[in-house]
Amino acid sequence: MIRQAKALGLDNFSVLCNHVLTPSAIMTILESPEVRELGTVPLDGFIGPAHVSTVIGSRPYAFFAEEYRKPVVIAGFEPLDVMQAIRMLVRQVNEGRAEVENEFTRAVTEDGNLKAQALVSEVFELRRSFEWRGLREVPYSALKIRKAFAAHDAEARFGLEYAPVPDNKACECGAILRGVKKPTDCKIFGTVCTPENPMGSCMVSSEGACAAHYNFGRFRDVPVVAA
Ligand code: SF4
Repeated sequence: MIRQAKALGLDNFSVLCNHVLTPSAIMTILESPEVRELGTVPLDGFIGPAHVSTVIGSRPYAFFAEEYRKPVVIAGFEPLDVMQAIRMLVRQVNEGRAEVENEFTRAVTEDGNLKAQALVSEVFELRRSFEWRGLREVPYSALKIRKAFAAHDAEARFGLEYAPVPDNKACECGAILRGVKKPTDCKIFGTVCTPENPMGSCMVSSEGACAAHYNFGRFRDVPVVAA
């Protein structure tokens, strides 16, 4: 769209780019004190995201399997895809393997979508630093629009500066995203904070950890009392 806007000379089309890079986030999690030193987050492996992997392919995950000895399985989005990917991960852990496996072979290849990669690198470049919720500033973990397309870059066009917005004081999203806490550790989970009245980002999106736990996991938390 950005290329097309440039080709058409549109002057009323601009984009605020917030694209982030999955491998950088994985690396930051693996290097976090909770994983490396304290052991408070026991990490057995990673599910590689389907949509990202269709573009970047499975190759960028090899580093985590080789250097950190963590299994990675790229999974599709259907429930059966996720179950199959978890089964593949469990099998790797049980057999002491740390490899990149691809469950989503119907859409992901080792090299990914080369045409899409070329388009991405034509329009975007690495951002020096980006603030991730829960992970803070992660160097070179996001993309920005190249100068050649500045006419369609909302940041350049409107002089936008990034200003961090603090979470609600009670919100534990950051720790939940790092695996240090669970949604139920938040004092306002399911009472003040619900999908209808979200107080934090993990509850806003249906994919968020708190929303998912509220919709599908909280019933497991209720103790069953035998009559
Ligand atoms: S999103 Fe809501 S429930 Fe989740 S940690 Fe934040 S405030 Fe708590």
